Amino acid sequence: MNITSTQQPLTELQSHGLQLEDPTAGAASRRGGAGPSDHKAVTIDGRTIMVPVHSSDALSSPFAASAPGADGRSELRHKTIPITQITFPKQPRFYKLQTFDGVPYWKIATLHGADVLATTVLQTCIRYGRRSTSCQFCAIGESLAGGRTINRKTPEQLAEVARAAVLLDGVKHMVMTTGTPNFTDRGAEILCESAFAVKAAVDLPIQAQCEPPDDPRWFKRLKVAGADALGMHLEAVTPEVRERIMPGKATVTIPQYLTAFEDAVKVFGRGQVSTYILYGLGDTREAVLAMSEKLIALGVYPFVVPFVPIGGTPLENLHSPNPAEMRELLQPLGRMLVEGGLKSADIKAGCGKCGACSSLSAYEKV
Ligand code: SF4
Repeated sequence: MNITSTQQPLTELQSHGLQLEDPTAGAASRRGGAGPSDHKAVTIDGRTIMVPVHSSDALSSPFAASAPGADGRSELRHKTIPITQITFPKQPRFYKLQTFDGVPYWKIATLHGADVLATTVLQTCIRYGRRSTSCQFCAIGESLAGGRTINRKTPEQLAEVARAAVLLDGVKHMVMTTGTPNFTDRGAEILCESAFAVKAAVDLPIQAQCEPPDDPRWFKRLKVAGADALGMHLEAVTPEVRERIMPGKATVTIPQYLTAFEDAVKVFGRGQVSTYILYGLGDTREAVLAMSEKLIALGVYPFVVPFVPIGGTPLENLHSPNPAEMRELLQPLGRMLVEGGLKSADIKAGCGKCGACSSLSAYEKV
């Protein structure tokens, strides 16, 4: 399969989701947590992508994967017609370990995609839990309530797990996100402590993710502490959509984000600052492309991913955008990124580099 013919199945699979003959195949699927979830990592034609497996769309998807054979390969079928062979990244070895105080490593950080260690340093958020302020797509409290994680991962715990994940499973970079703990640094301080401890233990590129802090000096502090890249996630780009879907987070306005992006790029460099945009929440294609143009001009990588509803959230019955809508957005966006000199492969760490939640990087190569 060449790159162009790879785009289509990647985009289609991410929009429709996948039915699994054997739900236990490969590493456990993500359920709940911050950001996109209810996915499973699938490797197709050498690329690992996160594919919805628990959403209502996935349960009626035309795509199905057979149970893996002895060689670990599954047959990907579209309405019973075999398309190609796929594999599922294996359960990482570090998942079997626990800290001296008895916390399983998988409750501290998990494997995302093929080679990314991801953690939510603080599993609670000042905006969560109240309908008037919470982000309707987010399930940060679900995995905590379900006992699948712990609330505060200490710097020591993160360092211990990161070291093991590098040594045992060869992870290549790390994503550190956080619930928003306050209205001032908005998580930057705990990310500094965490990045510092991980970097002291192991040489692992780190992307920190938080809302824009109130003081731009936090960008320098994050960099000095060991963050190589920074994500500040707009999620949606139209003020009305932001106010409807994420009423609390929308109080940090788009102009405030743009100022923060400008300040952060001065510290981290062009292409090392990124933002997540969930397509399917109500923004038009034109609005996402217009915002992306501004972001690229600032040196910010707009990581546009198809929205996937998460069970237990207010948006659980919303549908993902269809593959044609995704292609119509990702094709021009891929071209804009190439022309603007920003590429997924050049990012040092984080979601844009991992690329598993969107087929965007497949469109950068055209
Ligand atoms: S793109 Fe980000 S959220 Fe998605 S799997 Fe990769 S690291 Fe995780």
